[in-house]
Amino acid sequence: LFITFEGNDGSGKTTISQMAYEKLKEAGYPVIYTREPGGIDIAEQIRKVILDPKNTAMDARCEALLYAASRRQHLVEKVLPALDEKKIVLCDRFVDSSLVYQGIARGIGVDEVMQINEFAIEGHMPDATIFLDVDLETGLARVANRGNMDRLDAEGMAFHEMVAKGYATIKEKYADRMHIVDANKEMDDVLTQTITTLLEIITP
Ligand code: C5P
Ligand code: MG
Repeated sequence: LFITFEGNDGSGKTTISQMAYEKLKEAGYPVIYTREPGGIDIAEQIRKVILDPKNTAMDARCEALLYAASRRQHLVEKVLPALDEKKIVLCDRFVDSSLVYQGIARGIGVDEVMQINEFAIEGHMPDATIFLDVDLETGLARVANRGNMDRLDAEGMAFHEMVAKGYATIKEKYADRMHIVDANKEMDDVLTQTITTLLEIITP
């Protein structure tokens, strides 16, 4: 099973997915945790180029292609081998992030970004996605609290509004694999809800 975590910045994707992973592992499930670029050397190198503050001149389509390239390497080197071993793969962000950030927020278009990602992932879409649904303000406040505003400030409020709108669009578009968790709540509640949802996915 390939299960991804998505949601606005500050929705708790990284925290919640890691904690959920620990719980499932303790309970004896054959689970692995990863995130893009997932510690895969080639994918890390690509990601560094994308996020380098020196590269403000990067064209949106170039950015989208690099994300897709990084995703490809991570998929082939890490995700697919684990799925072959019948592991449950929990992944912090995947193709939906590109549809939202590059497709909608950067304005390339969802279909265009999906096209290059289809080339990269060859049909390996997630079986299920935990959608951590957080209000824009609540999410940004959490990011500010963890002292991580540099990248967010660099983009400006209009961009974050587009990201929030983008996630709402993608949530509808892929409603059949989306499992919505209310991420405005306290982290303990979000974690409990996430684990309940994961167990429903794993043992239907
Ligand atoms: O995964 P993480 O939250 O660490 O991502 C860092 C930043 O990378 C995000 O805040 C987002 O702005 C950006 N990003 C992006 N496009 C993606 C994935 C992430 O612009 N496809
Ligand atoms: Mg994160």
